[in-house]
Order: sequence, then structure tokens, then C-alpha cells
Amino acid sequence: MTEFILGIDIGGTAIKIGIINIDGSIHSKWDIPTNIENQGESIATDAWSSIVEKLDALHIEKDQLQGIGIGAPGFIDEKTGLVYKAVNIGWENFDLAHQFSELANLPVFVANDANVAALGENWVGAGNQADHLIAVTLGTGVGGGIIANGAMISGENGTAGEIGHITIDPNGYKCNCGKRGCLETITSATGMVRQAIALIEKNPESTLAEHHHKHGEITTKDIFDLAKQGDQLSEQIIDHTANVLGFAISNIATVINPSKILIGGGVSQAGESFIRKIETQFKRYALPRVSDICEFKIAELGNDAGMIGAAYLVKERL
Ligand code: ZN
Repeated sequence: MTEFILGIDIGGTAIKIGIINIDGSIHSKWDIPTNIENQGESIATDAWSSIVEKLDALHIEKDQLQGIGIGAPGFIDEKTGLVYKAVNIGWENFDLAHQFSELANLPVFVANDANVAALGENWVGAGNQADHLIAVTLGTGVGGGIIANGAMISGENGTAGEIGHITIDPNGYKCNCGKRGCLETITSATGMVRQAIALIEKNPESTLAEHHHKHGEITTKDIFDLAKQGDQLSEQIIDHTANVLGFAISNIATVINPSKILIGGGVSQAGESFIRKIETQFKRYALPRVSDICEFKIAELGNDAGMIGAAYLVKERL
């Protein structure tokens, strides 16, 4: 009897592995470090040997597994499970699905990590099985996942939903992707800190500058904390970030007409008031018919969204 699906979320520092029940709940989960030596060539064997050990300890037989779903960073060909390029791991044309299916002799499906996180949220998280949904992850970068007509959009060569690389300012900061002024250069954690540094240079006597001088650094948490204490420059950064996000999301929403927009990632932990600020700006820019039907929510599954969504890939495709 098949009872479980393996969901794997491969990140630059850790590989999160979950044995997921057919209803999307987690039976057990653990993680192992990502070995990026030799361009990450041992990642599949590392993960599989850890899985074999765990299945053994839990007395789960391999024939109780429906298959393996994997979320991985970078540009991915979902038909073949080939990773074209994942910069932070060092993969280039890496045959991830093939390696896992050789090791496990199970069906294997691979998709981009931000896309599978959106699937996970939509399966058992804040998405509540919406047919049209936009998920935005605000972390070190800005990730995105889009569900339209009930299916995840991955695109012709695995690049759909790369919301972080929508151009906001053609003359802006240089982005990791090579372009300038992408959404993530402004609204990621890194982007917000960059905004803070620019303001500190212009306002050396400010509370923000004082904080930076005292602690030697500034984080997004500092920015949100200082804003709560009434610091105007910090508030200015948050307002600008919310404005740029609302603007970008309103444009994406015009394309797919979603019922839900989910905000996740580290920066979203700033809480409900930040989400409402983004929503307010979104409503300023969006067609009323688009914004009327659309609900803004904080993502619910946190770090588990990827492994759960990866398991959903198997459920969806078998
Ligand atoms: Zn970019």
C-alpha cells in the first residue's frame, strides 16, 4: 500500500527532507547539510542515504512511497528534471531527477523551489486550493510562484514566476542576474538594508545611523523595530518597500487575476501591518475589479512549504 510521498527541498545550506502523508500533513521531517563541494555532485547520494537510514528507523518500506518530489534552486526543465543552472550550489546542466531515480527506482519530479513553495501553500497552507494565486517570498532575494487555472506556471524554459527580476528601475542597482533595478534589489532583505545604508549616508545624525554605528550593521528586523519606536527614516524604508511591492504585484495580478496573494519569507515575519501596507499600495495601482476579488495573506507553512509542495508535485503528476 502506498501511503507516503517524499518531499525534498534543496537549499544552498540545508536539504530539508519530509515523509509526507497523502493528505499533505507531515509524517516526519529532518534536514542534512548541503555539500556544495565539487559543484554539488554528491547531493543526490547524500540525500538518498539519509532517506534510506530514516525509512529503516521508521520501519517504512520503499513500496509504501508513491514517489519523490524535489524543489531545487535555479532554472529547471520540469520535463526532464534537469537543472540548467543553480548558482549558489554550482550546478550546471545537472541531471537531478535522473540521479534520484537511479538511486531510488521511484518516480521523481523536480521543480523550482519558489514554485513548489507556492504549491505547498496552496495545498495545505494559506492558499486554500485557489485556482489563481501569486506567492511572493521576501528573503535574501525575492522569489515567486504563480498558480493559474489551478496549475503551477513554470514556463517554456523554467523561468516563469521569477517575480524578483521584474524591472522596477532601469537605472537602479545592479542585480545578481546581471540586469539593473530588479524588484529584489529594492524589496528583498538585502535591498531594504541597502536602502537603509543610503539613508544613513545622507543622514549621519539620525537614529538609524546611530544604531548602525553602535552595532556595526543593520538588519531588516532593526528597521521594523526602529519604525515601531517612531523612527521616521525606518518608516520611510518600509513605506517605499511596500509601495514598490504593491506596484509590482498589481501588474502581475492584472495578468492572472488571482483570488489570493501570499507573502512569505523572512521579511514577512515583520507581520500583519507590513502586509496591510503592501495591500494598500496594491489597491492604489490595481484595476478595482482585480483588487476587489483578491485577498492578501501571510504564508502559513514557513520552511515546510517547499517539502510539502514538492510532495504535491508527485500527487499532481501521478
Ligand atoms: Zn534581477
